[in-house]
Amino acid sequence: MPRTEPIRAVRGVRDILPRDRSLWRAAERAAAEVATRFGYQEIVTPIIERVELIERVGEDTDAIAKELYRFEDRGGRQLALRPEATAGIVRAYFEGGLNQGPQPARLYLFGPMFRYDRPQKGRYRQFYQFDIEAIGSASPALDAEVIEIARGWLNESGIPELKLELNSIGDGVCRPAYLDRLRDYYRPLEEKLHPDCQRRLETNPLRLLDCKVPQCQPFKAGAPRITDHLCEPCSQAWTQVRRLVESAGIEYVHNPYLVRGLDYYTRTVFEFYPAGASGQQDALASGGRYDGLAETEGWPSTPGVGFAGGFDRVVEVMAASGVEVVAAPAAEVAVLADAGLDHEAANIARICRAVRSVAVDYEAKSLAAKMRSAAKLGARWVVLLSADEAARRTARLRDMASGEQVEVAWDELPERLSR
Ligand code: AMP
Repeated sequence: MPRTEPIRAVRGVRDILPRDRSLWRAAERAAAEVATRFGYQEIVTPIIERVELIERVGEDTDAIAKELYRFEDRGGRQLALRPEATAGIVRAYFEGGLNQGPQPARLYLFGPMFRYDRPQKGRYRQFYQFDIEAIGSASPALDAEVIEIARGWLNESGIPELKLELNSIGDGVCRPAYLDRLRDYYRPLEEKLHPDCQRRLETNPLRLLDCKVPQCQPFKAGAPRITDHLCEPCSQAWTQVRRLVESAGIEYVHNPYLVRGLDYYTRTVFEFYPAGASGQQDALASGGRYDGLAETEGWPSTPGVGFAGGFDRVVEVMAASGVEVVAAPAAEVAVLADAGLDHEAANIARICRAVRSVAVDYEAKSLAAKMRSAAKLGARWVVLLSADEAARRTARLRDMASGEQVEVAWDELPERLSR
């Protein structure tokens, strides 16, 4: 039966069209260049993972359950579309034997992530991240290193003005006692908190600190700060990370309310925002240390640190800040032949491709219309071919900027086009 409506894209996802790809490509190129300069190597992990890998390590358990794309495959396996990259990269680090190689393994990844979130501007159900992970070292110098990579990437993508927020959330040694203090502080205020925070008070008190609901805001300022209650090793790491970040010339603000909700996150947490961002604006990149993650996945305890940056948001900020990337023409050379000469046109194109990008116009339309299409493509040259010329293996080469036109033998075209 014929359909009445054309088939459109799924809600919350979008196409990145060729006209937008040049900005994306600039952001991707900057990411790969900065990562490579710091000695990070590319890794690609699958988009599908076992659901346990994601659910065991998932962000806030509720949020992950709500946002996870999960499905059963034809073999009855419970699978998920990855909502983030770190869990998969840590899995690959062990399965691929990278834990046996030089430590830390310095890895980067580009790729789509999936979250069944409410679609809105800057928030998509399929979005793209740049992920950096340094796995196998607890050195605070690596925390500073990944921060420097994030800054370098954003700067080189054309976003010079950034705000870095930094905090430490301690570890399994000092955090439990701090959480008791935090509960003690909040318990007398319980009635005044909104219901989610009342629940968090017992289940996940750290998340009280990053609650955005207005009714809970007045109580934050008086809450104990974890950075005042770190154990000695965490305290030394916190001092060192800040010192190293400062000596890299990176300004930061200490945000004592910047936290992560799961036990496997340790010590450093950070987020980069565009400068001037206020209120609830989303981060361009966020990261931190996850020394407990490998164990949560069932592997030997192994420290790690990294960040995830969002290409979708970075490209939006690039566009809004007027970053312009000169888009390469779809083809530098357009071949326009008279009717019946498709074969010859294809041969000429093949010859010219030795030196230039070439598109042939095979449409049955007037020469004038073909010339207009060639101009739209951004072609610098047009090769015109008539039956006569084809018989002599020559063609007319036209320079689109000057309008100058010369007859050239096919074999001489590459030399002409390389000038
Ligand atoms: P997260 O993994 O939640 O820490 O996110 C890391 C980065 O990915 C964020 O700073 C955003 O730039 C980007 N990001 C996260 N969720 C989305 C989304 N739904 N749509 C677009 N970008 C996102």
